[in-house]
Amino acid sequence: MTTNFNLNNITRPVIKALKPYSSARDEFQGNSDAMVFLDANENPYENGVNRYPDPQQRNVKGLLSEIKGVSTKNILLGNGSDEVLDLIFRAFCEPNQDNVITLPPTYGMYSVLANINAIEIQEIQLDAHFQPKVDAILETVNEKSKLLFLCSPNNPTGNSFEAASISKLIDNFKGIVVIDEAYIDFSNEESWVSRLAEFPNLIVTQTLSKAYGMAGIRLGICYASEAIISVLNRLKPPYNVNELTQQKAIVQLQNKELTAQQIKSILEERSLLIEALKKVDYVSEIYPSDANFILAKVDDATKRYNQLIEKGIVIRNRTTQPGCENTLRFTVGRPDENKILIETLKSI
Ligand SMILES: *Cc1c(COP(=O)(O)O)cnc(C)c1O
Repeated sequence: MTTNFNLNNITRPVIKALKPYSSARDEFQGNSDAMVFLDANENPYENGVNRYPDPQQRNVKGLLSEIKGVSTKNILLGNGSDEVLDLIFRAFCEPNQDNVITLPPTYGMYSVLANINAIEIQEIQLDAHFQPKVDAILETVNEKSKLLFLCSPNNPTGNSFEAASISKLIDNFKGIVVIDEAYIDFSNEESWVSRLAEFPNLIVTQTLSKAYGMAGIRLGICYASEAIISVLNRLKPPYNVNELTQQKAIVQLQNKELTAQQIKSILEERSLLIEALKKVDYVSEIYPSDANFILAKVDDATKRYNQLIEKGIVIRNRTTQPGCENTLRFTVGRPDENKILIETLKSI
């Protein structure tokens, strides 16, 4: 059990004192067609988007609740995970005072958001197997450490963190542990969403941008205790998820077979791509992946990256990331795209 976690103590005073904006749709939520809505200064002529969207996105949350087995009270939605992460910073980290822990090599947005919000970053590099150094992390944290970011499966390395390490960190960290599960739907590991009730200091973020095929609509998901969700709801912009995004998400979330089929195909293609990469003579290491991308070490990442660009193939050069010298990150594409990639890799 997590000891000494007190949400009230780690919430910023300005957020506790805040009187949240109350929108017309917050104050009255009617859903009868017979009602006359003259409360929000909207244009009354129907075109599909002339009304403000549901500020609490009840229909989208209802579907997510069913799919993920979580109460809607434990869900907050944002304009991409990026907005969700920014809300978490602004709720819990006092500028020029608090710090957050990140474990490089990892997703770049944690440090960008920390910089934007004037929050110090304590970096503890992952070990040689890209696993968290649990003891080193717990020795580094201090009373100003508010957030610990665990990206699992991790971007750009592709591996999941060991469950025992994650639970030890949640148990012993006095701030909030944010597990970024952007790639969880490609993994066989169980989501930490199922364990929210055990950990009052846990936030799990997911997204519709990867496995669900909706990077363009910008929908990020935050799962946490009701108490944490209430804090975040105080500061979120009232209409942060637009009507078109909500409509599109509802259609796609109902089409469970399509998503399952696409994930299956991506995983099959990932295996084929790994086999093909093993046969490329300048590839020296292929890292295990629980995600829809593969990190591989080559002889000269920048040279290979440029050669692929010349052939019209764009991948990600990760050579400047700590522990990732001469690595390239390949997103798994459609079978036709992967075929072109493999042929090109062999030819250069
Ligand atoms: C792609 C990705 C996201 C998704 O961010 P969105 O803003 O929801 O598109 C989040 N975290 C990680 C680690 C990612 O790689």
